[in-house]
Amino acid sequence: MNTKLTSFIHDIINQDLEEGKNQGKVHTRFPPEPNGYLHIGHAKSICLNFGLAQEYGGLCNLRFDDTNPSKEDLEYVESIQEDVKWLGYDWDDRLFYASDYFDRLYEYAVRLIKDGKAYVDDLSAEEIRAYRGTLTEPGKDSPYRNRSVEENLDLFRRMKEGEFPDGSRVLRAKIDMASPNLNLRDPVLYRIQKTTHHRTGDKWCIYPMYDYAHPLSDAIEGITHSICTCEFEDHRPLYDWVIENVKGNFPSRPRQIEFARLNLSHTVMSKRKLRQLVEEGYVRGWDDPRMPTISGLRRRGYTPEAIRDFCERIGVAKAVSMVDIALLEHCIREDLNFKAPRVMAVLRPLKVVLENYPEGRTEWLDAPYNQENPELGARKIPFSRVIYIEQEDFMEEPPKKFFRLAPGREVRLKHAYIIKCERVIKDERTGEIIELRCTYDPATKSGMATDTRKVKGTLHWVSAEHAVNAEVRLYDHLFIKANPEEDKDTDFKQNLNPDSLVVLSSLVEPSLAGAAPGSRYQFLRQGYFCVDPDTTGGSLVFNRIVSLKDSWAK
Ligand code: ATP
Ligand code: MG
Ligand code: MG
Repeated sequence: MNTKLTSFIHDIINQDLEEGKNQGKVHTRFPPEPNGYLHIGHAKSICLNFGLAQEYGGLCNLRFDDTNPSKEDLEYVESIQEDVKWLGYDWDDRLFYASDYFDRLYEYAVRLIKDGKAYVDDLSAEEIRAYRGTLTEPGKDSPYRNRSVEENLDLFRRMKEGEFPDGSRVLRAKIDMASPNLNLRDPVLYRIQKTTHHRTGDKWCIYPMYDYAHPLSDAIEGITHSICTCEFEDHRPLYDWVIENVKGNFPSRPRQIEFARLNLSHTVMSKRKLRQLVEEGYVRGWDDPRMPTISGLRRRGYTPEAIRDFCERIGVAKAVSMVDIALLEHCIREDLNFKAPRVMAVLRPLKVVLENYPEGRTEWLDAPYNQENPELGARKIPFSRVIYIEQEDFMEEPPKKFFRLAPGREVRLKHAYIIKCERVIKDERTGEIIELRCTYDPATKSGMATDTRKVKGTLHWVSAEHAVNAEVRLYDHLFIKANPEEDKDTDFKQNLNPDSLVVLSSLVEPSLAGAAPGSRYQFLRQGYFCVDPDTTGGSLVFNRIVSLKDSWAK
């Protein structure tokens, strides 16, 4: 694990602490909107917010930013909590919902109206947009901008009481229609939306906008550092305006700090796009092992340690960049190299008969689980006359550097003997190789004093009589292109990788019978694999987490 890196965010916090702001407290929050499952980008935000709180001896809240009832659902609320916990973070008793504050937010809005700082506007959404102006042109005042306080109070109350249809009126802040920052041109604070909320039911038919609810939720909770992604940089003056102008009695004066969101190659990260993949059946669900969601990565076999390590290595910066997915893969290899038992599985089996090995005999060979980590112990593996090796480990006419099996050549079977290929048996009709006839050299048993011969190749194998069937799911990148969203004119789904899933009928060594879902192994020479929850009673299903070959350029 790396030592903690410091970032520009640390510099800001250190300075705030030096200046004694917020009584020297550090209090952060992770504020997901419960409108989808969390993805690896959210993991970056979680590690950052909870991580900073840990480093500074502060606190971090989990807050659901549930101000948009039409897209939100309890299913997401539950999955988000599960994912944050799984990543190794704990909000203790600080689980909050922006909807907890709807009453207070309403009172603050009334206060803004009374102070002449907010008004009810009857313009339609399109008119508001047109009146807003552009970066080069100032906006125009709404004809409703100068309503009296009394009229505004009356209309806002009636908005709340459901007298007006959706979209007919909004509450706007009265700031500056000529501001060079478009976010300050009288932003909308409340909209009418007659939708049942997953927590407040039908109590409300007006809902606060993000730019209004977010700073106030932060201030109410005593947040000191409100960390968000760079798209919100231009919203920061509005964040400050809201907190300053509602004149609440808040436990802290939060400040917003922006950092670059994570973009990862060969995948997409927006919940909206991920939802499309789920709803249109391109993947099996939010937890499909090809998805960049936390639940997908978990099912694939990623560990929380590897994800935290990844988030630390990528660090935080202001500049947006694309991180190569090979780095994430590198992190899980690093984590499992030592931890995972190394076992033998033949993904695409080719039958081998050892002609000089007695029929009916079984030897149980000693096989340590991980030579680099003796603590994992050992098991015995059965050896017998008929075994399977990997199809790709045999070639009838091999090139020079092929150090595997070929007619007349020798290889070592891992933990067992040296064998020699004597004959190739083919299907008479198709010409396909269906079996190899080999001999073994009894003097070469691994670990015996007589085992003095060296051969170049060592193959993994399983005993035919003892092997266990398994379905093995090999995953590749979900998208062919590094940046599937690069071309704005084509649908990102056109860049889906048609071979992102390959399913094989494989054979694994018998020690894997009964392996529990979630357990992780290295299949020798193949990669890291994890038992999928689809595994039931007798039938094992494995997901390939990652192959052994590391393409990460250090
Ligand atoms: P999406 O666009 O994927 O729906 P979002 O920003 O709308 O993402 P939220 O639920 O609002 O999703 O996000 C919760 C927190 O996670 C926010 O503070 C947000 O800044 C952060 N976050 C979201 N996506 C990323 C990302 N790709 N990299 C870093 N942080 C992210
Ligand atoms: Mg958001
Ligand atoms: Mg979103």
